[in-house]
Amino acid sequence: MRILQTIGLLVAVGLLCFAVWFYRTTRDYPEDARRPPVVTYPAEFQLPAGTPPESPARRTVIVMLIDGLAPAMVEAQATPALDRLRREGSWTHHMLPPFPSMSLSSGFTISTGCWPEHHGIVTNRFFDPERGLYDHSFDADWVTACEQLHEVAERQGVPAAALGWYGEVSASRGKLASTVRYATTLEEFPPDHLRAEQITELLRLPEAERPQLILAYFKGPDELAHFSEIDDPEVREAVTAADRAVGAVLDAIEAQGLEEVVALIVTTDHGLVPVTHLINIGYILRKHGIEARMLATGTTAFVYLDDPSTRADALAKLSGYPEFELVLPEAPPPWYHLGSGPRTGDFIVSARPGYAIEDRGMLPWFVRWVAWVGPEIVGSEVLVASHGYPPDTPGIEGVFYAWGSGVRTGHELTRVDAIDIHPTVTHLLGIAPGEPVDGKVVWELVADPDAAH
Ligand SMILES: [Zn+2]
Repeated sequence: MRILQTIGLLVAVGLLCFAVWFYRTTRDYPEDARRPPVVTYPAEFQLPAGTPPESPARRTVIVMLIDGLAPAMVEAQATPALDRLRREGSWTHHMLPPFPSMSLSSGFTISTGCWPEHHGIVTNRFFDPERGLYDHSFDADWVTACEQLHEVAERQGVPAAALGWYGEVSASRGKLASTVRYATTLEEFPPDHLRAEQITELLRLPEAERPQLILAYFKGPDELAHFSEIDDPEVREAVTAADRAVGAVLDAIEAQGLEEVVALIVTTDHGLVPVTHLINIGYILRKHGIEARMLATGTTAFVYLDDPSTRADALAKLSGYPEFELVLPEAPPPWYHLGSGPRTGDFIVSARPGYAIEDRGMLPWFVRWVAWVGPEIVGSEVLVASHGYPPDTPGIEGVFYAWGSGVRTGHELTRVDAIDIHPTVTHLLGIAPGEPVDGKVVWELVADPDAAH
C-alpha cells in the first residue's frame, strides 16, 4: 500500500514538473516582443538653435516607405499607380538594403543615409551594454551618430512631417519634426489608406503651413507576406492597398496643382525570400554548451558570449553547418557595415536562403519545447518568407520609384543603395545632407544633373 502511495506521489510530482516546464516553454517568450515599446517624450517641438527664419527648400519632397514591398509582388499583379511612377519617373527593382535586411536597421539607414555601423541600429533587436535591450524602438535616442532626414531638414529651416517614421521622437529631446504621428505599437499604426490620408491632409494646407518634407511609413504587405505566399489573395490585397495609397497621394498632388513643385519617392525597407526551414538556434547553442545571450530576428542571430574567451571554441563548434554562415567583424564580407561595437555581439549567425532564425516565439506555442529538445532544423509550417539576408541575396532587393519635380522621366536605374536615398532627398530639397553621411546623391535620377552639380 505504501509503495503504491509512493509511486502515485512520484507520478504526480513528475506530471506537475512536466506541466511547469511545458508552461514555461510556451510562456517565457512574450507575445508582444515584436511590437515597438512605448516611448514617452516631451510633447513640445523645439526648433534647433540657429534655424534660419526662411525655408531654403526649392521644392517639396514626399517619401513613402512601404514595408516589405518586394519587386516580385509588384510584377505579379496590376499596380497602376506604381506603373505610372515607372513611366513618368526613374525607378529600379534593385534597391539594396543594408545587412541584415531588417525593417528597423534598413529604415534607419534610409533615414540617416548612414550604414548601421554609424547610426547604431544594427538589427531589429540587439543588446547595448549601457541601455540594455533594443526592441523595435523608434526612439531617436538609440541612434549613435548621423542625423535623420527630418532633423536635417528642420535644422536648415525646412518644416518636416514624420508620420510613423524612424526616430520621429526622442525620449530626451521630444518631437524631432514640426509634425509627427507617433504610434506606440504596430497595431496602432493606421492602415495604408489612412496613412495616405494623413499625407493628403498635409498637402491641402495653405502653403505657409505645409511641410516641405513628408516622411511616411506604411505597413504594406510585410506582416501578411511572412505567413502567406505572394499570390495569396490577402497579400495581393495588401499590395493593391499600397498601390492605391500611392494613387491617392498622386491625386492629391494634382488636385492641389503641386505637380511642378513636388517630388515623390516610393520605396521599401527590404524584399522577402521564401523560407522552408527554421534554424533552431537556441537548441544548437545549448547542445554545444555555448553560454551566451542571443537575439534572433528574421534570418540572423546576434550572439553575445557570457565569456569572450570561449569564442574560438564556439566558432569551431558552429562552423560546418550548411544551413548558416558565421559573420565575423574581423573578417567582414563586402556587404558588412555593422562595425565591431558591442551591439554587434561576438559574432552573427546568418542563415542561408531558405532558412530563417526567428526566436522560438515565432513557433506555435504548443511546439516551442523544440527549442529545448531539438531537432536542430525545424520544418517551417507557419513562416513562408523572411528577410535579413545579405543584400546580394536574390529576392531581398526592394522597389524604388522617384517621380515629379526635378526627377528624370521614364528612366530605369541600375540600382539604388539604401544609404543613397537620404542625400538624394536633401539634394532634391536643395539643402545639405546630414553630418556625417555615408551615401551619395543618385545623380542618375536627377532631371538636370549638370545644372545641379
Ligand atoms: Zn520591414
